[in-house]
Amino acid sequence: MENAVWVYMNDSLRTDRNFDGFIDWAKGKNVRLVILYFPKDELYPAGQAAPEMAAFVERCKGEGLEVHGMVSGFMSPPKEFFEPGYEQCFAVDWHGCSSRFHPAGGNRHFLDPNQALVIEMLCTAVANLLDAYPSLDGVQLDFVRYFHSTTVLTVDTAEAGSDLRLLVQDKLKVSGERGEAVYFLDSPSVKFNDPPIGGVQQYYHYYHYCFCDKCLTDFNATYGIPVSLDRPRAEVAREIATGHAAQWHAFRAEVITRAVKAVRETVNQVAAGKRLSATIWYNSPYGNRLTGKPFRPGSEYTDFGQAWEEWAAQGLMDFICPMNYWLSPSEYGEITQRQVTRIGGKMPIYSGLLTSHDYPGPRGSLQEYLTAAERSGAAGVCFFAYHTWLE
Ligand SMILES: [Zn+2]
Repeated sequence: MENAVWVYMNDSLRTDRNFDGFIDWAKGKNVRLVILYFPKDELYPAGQAAPEMAAFVERCKGEGLEVHGMVSGFMSPPKEFFEPGYEQCFAVDWHGCSSRFHPAGGNRHFLDPNQALVIEMLCTAVANLLDAYPSLDGVQLDFVRYFHSTTVLTVDTAEAGSDLRLLVQDKLKVSGERGEAVYFLDSPSVKFNDPPIGGVQQYYHYYHYCFCDKCLTDFNATYGIPVSLDRPRAEVAREIATGHAAQWHAFRAEVITRAVKAVRETVNQVAAGKRLSATIWYNSPYGNRLTGKPFRPGSEYTDFGQAWEEWAAQGLMDFICPMNYWLSPSEYGEITQRQVTRIGGKMPIYSGLLTSHDYPGPRGSLQEYLTAAERSGAAGVCFFAYHTWLE
């Protein structure tokens, strides 16, 4: 196997000494592909080579490594998108809240992949990347998917005392020094609040996308399913998710595949022969083993909209890097094998392996993971941790 690594230009890497350290580590781990992250702000609207990035690319190339530039697809918008006039570029969630003003976690601003301006921005960033760094061997798309998470706030109504009357509203705003979030009551469970009688009251924020007017209108035009733009967005979203789930999932996957196709065409136009790859997840939510949640087969398609076997079938990708994190060696091997089988060998798979200090896992048993990847038919593993190569 020849391996890959995701690299972020950070303080540990900035000096020449650490370029040496990185190269030594890469050779020792049989790394052949370096996937280097580039922030979109450096690539859009204009892009020019940053000296330290260019120096790192050239150093790796000089050592016979392949270097690919990684760009986030629909997360981490460029600064310009926060100027007035770009509001429609941000995806709208289940409740009708725009990710521009209600980002998940306070800073996860998710762009709508169904907006022409967003695709244009991504293609421009990719073209500028290949133009500014002509030695790159290709581009990797990170976050070429939908954002999807559910947040639940549970209030113990028996303990809520006299504050309970504030907590039985349809909408709950939680504010703190780092920002604020809005939560919505699905179904009230408190009948009386003086004295408090009930049990628990649950508030939700479904960061599920995209329920903007354009997406709903396009969904209607594609599948002939009536949608109302006048009724509360959460009601419409629930009807779609429960009554027309198959069509909704297909619609969203088509949006993402179209975006992948647009980037492929850009790469072919500006730098024919350069390779295109992407990161994918194996499940939604990810990190099941950390959170004690069961695997949900097919959830990366239903929740994230990634029909990545279709990208392989259409020849849109040259290789893929699934982020197979937080798994035991045997699960890691099984999941990698399923991924290899799923695309029938149509493109190489570099099975992502998290080796960080933050989580228990591969650090102590690396050889078991390498063996599992090799047996599963992966082309290699793709190492990840912000400082993997320092270990
Ligand atoms: Zn939309």
